[in-house]
Amino acid sequence: MQHKPITRLKTTLSFTFLFFLITSFTLTAQTDTRIYDIIDAVSADRIKNDVKTLADFGTRHTLSDTVSQTRGIGAARRWIKSQFEATSKDCNGCLDVFYQKDLVEKGRNGRIVKDVEVVNVVAIQRGTKYPNRYIIMSGDIDSRVSDPTDYTSDSPGANDNASGMAGTIEAARVLSKYKFENSIIYVGLSGEEQGLFGGQGLAAFAKANNWDIIGILNNDMIGNITGVDGVIDNRSFRIFSEPVPPTETERQRRARRFYGGEVDGISRQLARYIHKNVKTYMPEMNPMMIYRLDRFGRGGHHRPFNDAGYAGIRIMEAHENYTQQHQDIRTENGINYGDTFEHVNFDYAAKLTAVNAINLASIAWAPPSPETVGIGGIVQPSAKFEWSAVEGAVAYKIYWRDTTSPTWDNARLVGNVTSYTLEGIVVDNFFFGVAAIGKDGHESLVAFPNTIVRN
Ligand SMILES: [Zn+2]
Repeated sequence: MQHKPITRLKTTLSFTFLFFLITSFTLTAQTDTRIYDIIDAVSADRIKNDVKTLADFGTRHTLSDTVSQTRGIGAARRWIKSQFEATSKDCNGCLDVFYQKDLVEKGRNGRIVKDVEVVNVVAIQRGTKYPNRYIIMSGDIDSRVSDPTDYTSDSPGANDNASGMAGTIEAARVLSKYKFENSIIYVGLSGEEQGLFGGQGLAAFAKANNWDIIGILNNDMIGNITGVDGVIDNRSFRIFSEPVPPTETERQRRARRFYGGEVDGISRQLARYIHKNVKTYMPEMNPMMIYRLDRFGRGGHHRPFNDAGYAGIRIMEAHENYTQQHQDIRTENGINYGDTFEHVNFDYAAKLTAVNAINLASIAWAPPSPETVGIGGIVQPSAKFEWSAVEGAVAYKIYWRDTTSPTWDNARLVGNVTSYTLEGIVVDNFFFGVAAIGKDGHESLVAFPNTIVRN
């Protein structure tokens, strides 16, 4: 490079650069520094204290005592409610806290050995622009030991699932310091171990009240880093998502054979969103996309939401320890069985809580996804898109990926338009989707095309 005209070149360059920065920042801001503040604000110590408190209720079995102030699920849910209320008090009443409950009658299944009120504890942080659109974080209140109907033995459930419950309480504390356009729900669900009754109850309540649910991040066991297989890993975690909604119609199923979408349901898009956001803001973590509803033959509380047609995923540790799940506390052949406090890693639980918190925040700050996305390009060397405008969007992004890739690997920012043609890209060889981008750069979930553009 020549040295003489450097000042002038520098000035021109900095103006150009500044202009570029301003335009690209307003359009595409890739990171929002508030997200880093949220990560830093999550406290492993507070999660530790809360897991201890929850484990010290002795048992939180769904059928356990509800009268005692110190033992059983009644005392536990009153304490959880008091924590949400304390958080709300610190933010001028920013949380609506209430119990949502349903009676489940004896004999409903083999694990309901007496009539029981299944009680969830709900805290809603109301969105400023879309009060009826919700992104949900859940943990479970209840615990169990070896016999699922044993509601009196000590059942600390420290990892399963005081860890998810404590993470949810902590996320509420951290996010209550901010205002969001969409509503966030923090919820403790009950009846999980007896047959996913709390999730069923809340999903039905959501339907009855016409809640517009963006999705649920269900946290079930987020504190174990020592696998039963000997692997120790405090960076990896799993995001379980089912491929397509169980509520899809026969027509939608038939259309998938010709236009694709068999691995692009709404829950999968939610999983991809979390994966991408974590890679952006917490690159030290290793999120694993697991292409299934849940672990082999086992269940969790996101499922009742999926059953009702809502997006929902499970966030979970990567390596489980089966001697510390659903076990009577005992020592056998030198092995200490039981889901006790000392097995939980609180720094890891804090990391996974931060994973939740940053995704709740990003989604709650983002505009909705385009309602309809059309795609075309049959026998053409280009892919065409048309989508419905989203109020509040300042730009849109077209994403695409190889058909074998789990993540949206390519993207084109296309400004504030509602149609676009990607020249030179053959529609046959990729899957595509469109996201709306809000003024702070936060993106909606990617909408997979749901109509066909013909021309
Ligand atoms: Zn369990």
